[in-house]
Formats: sequence, structure tokens, C-alpha cells
Amino acid sequence: MSTLRFKALETLPFKDFRRDNSVEVPGKLSELFCQNVFSEETMREYLTKEAFQSIMDAIKKGTKIQRHIADQVAVAMKDWAMSKGATHYTHWFQPLTGTTAEKHDSFFTPIEGGRAIERFSGNLLIQQEPDASSFPNGGIRNTFEARGYTAWDPTSPAFIMGTTLCIPSIFISYTGETLDYKAPLLRALNAVDEAATNVMQYFDKNVTKVTPTLGWEQEYFLVDSALYQSRPDLVLTGKTLLGHSPAKGQQLDDHYFGSIPTRVMNFMKELEIECMKLGIPVTTRHNEVAPNQFELAPMFEEVNVAVDHNSLLMDIMARIAHKHHFHILFHEKPFAGVNGSGKHNNWSLATDTGENLLSPGKNPKKNLQFLTFFVNTIKAVYEYADLLRASIASASNDHRLGANEAPPAIISVFIGSQLFRVLEELEKVTEGKLSPDEKTDLKLNVVGKIPEILLDNTDRNRTSPFAFTGNKFEIRAVGSSANCAESMTVMNTIAAKQLIDFKKEVDALIETGLKKDEAIFNVLREYIKQCKSIMFEGDGYSDDWAKEAKKRGLNNLKTTPEALKQEMDKKFVDLYEEIGVFTHREVEARNEIKLEKYSTVIDIEARVLSDIARNHIIPSALNYQNRLIENVKGLKEIFPDKEFRTLAKEQMSLITNISENVSKIKLGVEDLIKAREAAKAVSNSQKQAETYCSKVIPLFDVIREASDDLEMMVDDELWPMTKYREMLFTK
Ligand code: ADP
Ligand code: MG
Repeated sequence: MSTLRFKALETLPFKDFRRDNSVEVPGKLSELFCQNVFSEETMREYLTKEAFQSIMDAIKKGTKIQRHIADQVAVAMKDWAMSKGATHYTHWFQPLTGTTAEKHDSFFTPIEGGRAIERFSGNLLIQQEPDASSFPNGGIRNTFEARGYTAWDPTSPAFIMGTTLCIPSIFISYTGETLDYKAPLLRALNAVDEAATNVMQYFDKNVTKVTPTLGWEQEYFLVDSALYQSRPDLVLTGKTLLGHSPAKGQQLDDHYFGSIPTRVMNFMKELEIECMKLGIPVTTRHNEVAPNQFELAPMFEEVNVAVDHNSLLMDIMARIAHKHHFHILFHEKPFAGVNGSGKHNNWSLATDTGENLLSPGKNPKKNLQFLTFFVNTIKAVYEYADLLRASIASASNDHRLGANEAPPAIISVFIGSQLFRVLEELEKVTEGKLSPDEKTDLKLNVVGKIPEILLDNTDRNRTSPFAFTGNKFEIRAVGSSANCAESMTVMNTIAAKQLIDFKKEVDALIETGLKKDEAIFNVLREYIKQCKSIMFEGDGYSDDWAKEAKKRGLNNLKTTPEALKQEMDKKFVDLYEEIGVFTHREVEARNEIKLEKYSTVIDIEARVLSDIARNHIIPSALNYQNRLIENVKGLKEIFPDKEFRTLAKEQMSLITNISENVSKIKLGVEDLIKAREAAKAVSNSQKQAETYCSKVIPLFDVIREASDDLEMMVDDELWPMTKYREMLFTK
């Protein structure tokens, strides 16, 4: 047997090393923590007091680091990195390709007399110029200004990977436009810090900084490397384009939280050791719903660092999986009919006085503060739901959203019945000044009734794309392969805008003579009235919800092209400009990049599917059909006519059936090629993406159905593609 499938399968049962690649945790995990990070503690050891203070100020207050200090930091970083065996350094950044980028340079510098030294300067630390002309830029950098530069982000700590010192950086064009995920994120984080700190002055004047926090949960699949290599669709598109679902999938729910297979456990252990050393505080690991699907989650961190840690994690996961003969799949829907993967983004706001602003407090005063941030978040999502939807849009996530396993593409907010009742009470507050009785009643019976710890008793509605879970909001619709920076940029931008507006409205009411609390109650009441339509407590997977949402006027942007079209709405572009996150040109460029990426992904899938169908599926089906024909001919030779007709009946019907499916595939491929070419010729990016979406994608199903039918007919020994049951159940 010569197909890739059989070669791959042959390697499986005998390779004991795949199971025995055992990993021992050296000592306590806590002792490994931040070993390879230029952490606060390390900086304290390696830096002068002045330099240390300067970095801390840059992190906490956003102050600039002076050139002579940067020189000191560079030398300290180099000395520390070399003490850990590093020989190279790189600016580590996150271009819009979706992966991380690095270009290693050596510390080694030749000097006169045939000698050499290790050198690293402040200039090199602060700014570098990668030859970046082939990173996506949405037309911002034409060939005349092809250069971009990377700039050190001192708010995320440097770390060592292998023998390279990695310096987290942002990536911008020479004309100042952002070309990466991080630069706009940092702008949004600053904006929300300022807006939330201003609002906090109503409640606690000691607060001087508000830091958004992010705790992501990463889902993924593991597939044996050899089996992965045997599937051209997985290798080229990250997902299977064909494949009949196995007789046993996730029906028995026996994988979720089940015992972790030994080989996977070894992978996880090694991964955790690596995460610890890199300062990624992973705490949770478990099996997910689908076979061979798993999840990993860390302790939450401030958003910027959490985003870097997630990107870094995805990179090291792939490498470590490889060592354990696995390939890791981050695609949102690698297997049809099997649950896909997401990346929940848990978001909150933390003050420099140690408070979580989305955590209900111990007394009415604290709870008014909680309600302020809680209601403002809901209002922000209500106003900018489409923008949030656009931030999670991708060709791969489209397969998952609304597929009855992930939140629908309709953005709604779930807050749980207890808080829903509190908001209903607040809605009844009288307009303008409150009577003393009303004030007391509000404080004692409404605000005062918010249970201190909601954490355990908020209902956990898993079908909501945006859910309050006791002390944070959880954005559930983010795709597993996404860079969290995108949804976090939107989340923090809209929160900033909303808090700015809130402050203005409250201040205006105070000017008219209302007391602060009265003004706040008045504004919150109006917000609750306005955004009630986005609050939904029921089953987000149900068809009834889609109908109800339509009645409520909520958008259901089912596909990426629809979501991306909405992203260019003037309201959203103005918002970005007002908050200072993107210029009009930047929004346009990013929108263009995402549309192009969408079309390219579908185009590649179409080509791969056509190739597999013609080169693998049709020949194998014909091969098997020939066997059947031989069989029928043989029967005809040895049996009299009448008996032959009965005996060959089933074979004949199979032969016909195979021909029908082969013909469906052949014609399907011809249609697909034509549709693909037509889509490719469309010049407007928005129109092109829409054409791929409406004209190309539906043709995939025709081919797939026929091929999956054939998979059930053709002799297993002749089938060329590794099957779902083989990929999903190898341990
Ligand atoms: P579940 O799977 O039920 O959603 P987990 O405990 O797996 O719950 O995940 C909760 C996530 O929320 C963790 O990643 C955790 O770090 C994060 N988290 C907890 N508190 C906060 C917070 N204040 N801000 C941001 N994320 C938080
Ligand atoms: Mg969760």
C-alpha cells in the first residue's frame, strides 16, 4: 500500500517512543517561574537604581526612557541574556500576518586585530528596521516608503527563547501608521486607563491608574504528526476539507474533563515547564468536548502582557507538540461535525489601589461603583456590537460561530437573573432629584442587595457571546487562532469611549444641581433603558433567538464579509479617530488586509479541495469501481444469466453509485474552478470577499458530500485520505 495514509498509519502502533517520551518536572514549578524573563526582580539585580526606576515609570506612568538609560538597559539585558547562554537578540513583534515575527542578530561584533566582542546598545534596543516590505500593510506602504520599523515596548518584559533575547516591540511604518496588533492595542489601553481613572474620581480619589486585565482560555486539537502530514488539506489549510464523521464522535461526552492520555500529558508537562520559564502563569489544563481537543488557561494578567503571552504560547505550543510527534491545530473548525475551538477572552478593569472594578463590593458605595462600570460596559457593547463582531471575524471563525457549539454571530450580553433584577429596579429610579426615602431604599434594597460574591451563583450561560461571570466579562466568540489583541483593542476602545461619555453626562447633571450619586443613578437609568435589547438570558443557540434578535433590531452578521463591511461604518471610524486608536487610513488599511486574507484563505481552500478531489478521491473511487467490475465480469463468466443477475445486483448498484458520485465531484470541481476564477477577477476587495463567500464556498459542500459518500463505499484499503476516526482517536 503506497498511499500517504497507509505509510502514516504504519508508523503508529510500533513507535513506543511516542508514548514514553516522558517529561519530569524539575523541582517545583514555582521555582522555574520567570527564569527566562528579564523580570522586575532580574532588572532590580542588573540595573542601576536610576535605570530601574526609569523602566518602572515607563511601565506605570508611560514616561519616555532617555537614551543614556536605554544604553544602560541594553548592556544589562545583554549581560543577563549571555549569562543564560543567549548569543543573539531580536525585536519580537506581531505583524498582521497573525503569527509572530523575529529576525535574529548576533551580539557578536568583530573589532580590530582579528578580535571580537559581544555588543548591544541602546539604539539597537529602542529601534530596528526589519526588511519588512512583505508584511501585510493594506496599501499603506507603497514601494517608495517600503520600510517600517520596530520599536521596543518596555511595558512587556524581554525574554529568552532558545539562545535568543527577544524584545517585545511594536511595528510601524515610517510615516507613523501602525502595522501590527500591538501598537493600536497600547493606544486603546491608554485611553481606557485615562477614561476609567477619571470616572473613578467619583468614588476614590486615590486611584491614579486603571489597568485592563485579560485571562484567555486557549482551545486546541492535537493530531499525530505522521497522520497530519498524510492530509494535504490539513497541511495547506489547517483544516480538513473532506472526511466522513466517525461512528463515534463526542456523543458520549466521554472526552470532556476525562483523563489525559500519556503522550498528551507529556506534551502538556513540557509545555508548562516552558511557560513557567517564560513567565506565562498557566494554571489550568483539561480535555475539551471533542476527541483530541484540549484547553489551557493561565492566571489573568494585564492585557498587553497577556496578549504577548498568548502569542508566545501559540508559538511554543507548536514547537513542543512537534517534539512529542503531534501537530497542533489552532484552526477554529478543523473537523466538520466535531466541536470547534475558541479562545475565551475574560476581561476586567483593575485599579492601582488593588480593586477589580467589575467585582461587586461589600457596601452600597462600592456597589454603585461596580454598577457604574458594569452598566457602562453593557452600554459600550450595545453601541458598538458590530465592531466587536468584526474584531472576531475570520474565514475560519465563520465555521464556528452559530454552529450550535459556539455563540452565534449575534452579539448579546448575558448578566444572570440576579443582576438583571437589580437593573430592572434601577430602571425605576425617578428622574432628577431623589427623595431621602428613595435614596435610602435604593441604597439598601437595590444596590445593597447585590450579593457580595456572585462568582458561584451567576448562572453560567455558555451560549452567550458576551457573558458576565461574577467579576469579569467573558468574550466567548473569539476564535482559537486569533490574536487576542484585536478583540482587546475594540473592547478597550469602546469602554474608553463609553466612560468618557458617561463622565460628561454625569458632570452635566451635577452642574444642574444634582448630587453626584443622583446624577450617576440618573445616567445609569437611561443607559439601562437604552440598551435593554442587547441583554439576553436565554439559549443563544436556538432559532427562536435569531428571530427575537431580529425583532429587537440586533444585527446577525453571519459571515466575515458582512462583518467587515459594517466595520467601515462612519460611526466606527469616527470612534477610532476620536479615541486615537486608528486614523481613517489605518482602519481602511486593516479592513483591506482582512478582506484580502479572507479571499485568499477561501481561494486556497478551493484549490486544495479541487486537487484532492481530482488526484486522490476520483482515482481511488475508480480503482475500487474497477475491482467491482472485475468481480461482476467474473460472476458473469461462471454463472448462468439468471443467477448472475441476482448475484451481481448489489455490485452493479455500487458501480452506478460510484459513477454518480464521481460525476458529482468532477462537475463540482469544474464549477468550483470557474467560480474561483470569477471571484479572483473581482477587483474591489469587499465585493471579492462577498463573491468568495456566496459563490465559491457553497460549492465546497457539493464535492464534500459526494466524497464523504464515497468514503463510506470504497474499500478501506483503497481509501487515500486518513480518516477522522484515525486522526481523532490516536493517543
Ligand atoms: P471557565 O472555563 O468556567 O470560563 P476558567 O476558570 O477556566 O473558567 O477561566 C476563567 C478565566 O478568567 C481564567 O483565565 C482567569 O484568569 C480569568 N480571570 C479571572 N479573573 C479575571 C479578571 N479580573 N480579569 C480578567 N480575567 C480574569
Ligand atoms: Mg471560560
